Amino acid sequence: MDIVTICGLKKYFGAGSRLVKALDGIELSIEKGRLTAVIGPSGSGKTTLLGIIGGLYEPTEGSVIVGGVHLSTLSEEQLTVFRRRKVGFLFQECRLIPELTVEENILFPLALDDSFPDRAFFAGLTDFLELSDRLDWYPRMLSGGQQKRVAIARALITKPALILADEPTGSLDLKNGRNIAGLLRRTTDVFHQTLVMVTHSRELAQMADRVVRLRDGRLI
Ligand code: ADP
Ligand code: MG
Repeated sequence: MDIVTICGLKKYFGAGSRLVKALDGIELSIEKGRLTAVIGPSGSGKTTLLGIIGGLYEPTEGSVIVGGVHLSTLSEEQLTVFRRRKVGFLFQECRLIPELTVEENILFPLALDDSFPDRAFFAGLTDFLELSDRLDWYPRMLSGGQQKRVAIARALITKPALILADEPTGSLDLKNGRNIAGLLRRTTDVFHQTLVMVTHSRELAQMADRVVRLRDGRLI
């Protein structure tokens, strides 16, 4: 089953002499439960592609279906709900909220939605990510790797249809980057998550089920 179906996708920025064809005719399906790596040189459209799948940007042309929903049919308000419930985002920076504890940070996407956590799932997730004894700590008290693990838990807590990760290990040193990459792979396997991950690292791409290459806004 496909979680994402993209047809004839184009995304242009600017106009005239400043026109940038960030994505220029993309056909892509992403299967449920798999880890797809998106690679390509800087400026090839990786972040733009992720942003469009996540409903952050609107395509210039083409259709994007995520979890059976045509994103173009959603109002601004429905898109906000879509992003909150259907997608888990992981960025290069962790973007944790400094005033909130680890537990509050992880549960934040649910709090935004006025929904209650599945406590057993929360316990299993934080246990798996070795955060159980850090739940009442604040982000500044954690190492970079621990902060990453909090961000991973926060991306999974809503049991989203898919997780979108943009260079999730980019801010870490080699060793921590490897650890987090392996952990991300195991976490998505254990919790049956679909992950689309942009990466610069060949090594990271190797652990993916599938590698998608972008160049100048096209798949190659
Ligand atoms: P990547 O993530 O592969 O480095 P991006 O998707 O960020 O590439 O960018 C693809 C192209 O689109 C680049 O040429 C970039 O400058 C351009 N671009 C991205 N976002 C914007 C924007 N908001 N306004 C104008 N140009 C943009
Ligand atoms: Mg990018």
